[in-house]
Amino acid sequence: MNVRITPLDGKLPNLALMRLASFHRENGDQVTVTRSLTRELGEPKPDVVYGSAIFNSSFRQVEDFRKQFPDAIIGGTGSGNWQTVEEIIGQEWLRVDYSDYPNCDASIGYTMQGCRFKCEFCIVPKKEGKPRATSTILDIWRGGLHSRKLLLLDSDFFGQPEGAWRKRIDEIRTGGFRVCLEQGINIRTITDTQAASLASIEYRCTKFQRRRLYCAWDRLRDERRFFDGVDRLDRAGIPPHHLRAYMLIGHDQEETIESRLYRFNRMVERGIEPYPMPIDRKQKDLMAFSRWAATGLYRAVPWKEYRG
Ligand code: SF4
Repeated sequence: MNVRITPLDGKLPNLALMRLASFHRENGDQVTVTRSLTRELGEPKPDVVYGSAIFNSSFRQVEDFRKQFPDAIIGGTGSGNWQTVEEIIGQEWLRVDYSDYPNCDASIGYTMQGCRFKCEFCIVPKKEGKPRATSTILDIWRGGLHSRKLLLLDSDFFGQPEGAWRKRIDEIRTGGFRVCLEQGINIRTITDTQAASLASIEYRCTKFQRRRLYCAWDRLRDERRFFDGVDRLDRAGIPPHHLRAYMLIGHDQEETIESRLYRFNRMVERGIEPYPMPIDRKQKDLMAFSRWAATGLYRAVPWKEYRG
């Protein structure tokens, strides 16, 4: 059987698709992993097609892909389809195929799934339910001579039972791992103990170079709780300039350009790196704001003068 697997967005390797590739290859199927939305020259006619869209903003890619492959199974948060990989290949299949990502030397996985919170714009609690521990660090690490880099996709690392997250921190520290918590830690509820645990490990950016912890400040009303968390991390030894804060923009009905800039500037003043995430990529003003911030142009050009 010919199987086509297509990540429709995202820069990082897609764990769900890597599990599908592993499942089909080990069952003797011919698997092609490609980002191309259309069939390429010489590509065999696929019998089964999978796609994955992580972001809601990828709706155009989803539409275009579906036009090309009407029978494709398209999953992921941005697809509107809640079918999970486990429903396709079974709960027991945990193996992952890294061979389509030769430049990726990290090991990728989840120590937990689910989330304690119910942010109205987020699908995680609906899709994954209450938080629970799922894997140890040694379950995720590829072992042997592989690098000791871990890309953890946990949505709410400290939401798993305390005994479990303490063990994971201990495994990371004693195993000499560098870890990227790219989905972000929940800074609004961080405790002194949790902050000290994070300070004790080698947290890194997605390239495993810079010291970086990811968090979020999505709603203006969370200002006090957000900065309480920033202060707590700072006291534990994690300075604000190690923080990248995802900043949802365009979701809150009451958001104005002034309140958006206020949130942005408050973070910049503290040395935090704000990272705007437009709720809707079709809205030009949101996209312009995101470009102004992400390119660093805000340091040279005031927003009022930016013509992006
Ligand atoms: S804390 Fe994060 S993962 Fe949990 S519901 Fe909110 S946005 Fe989603």
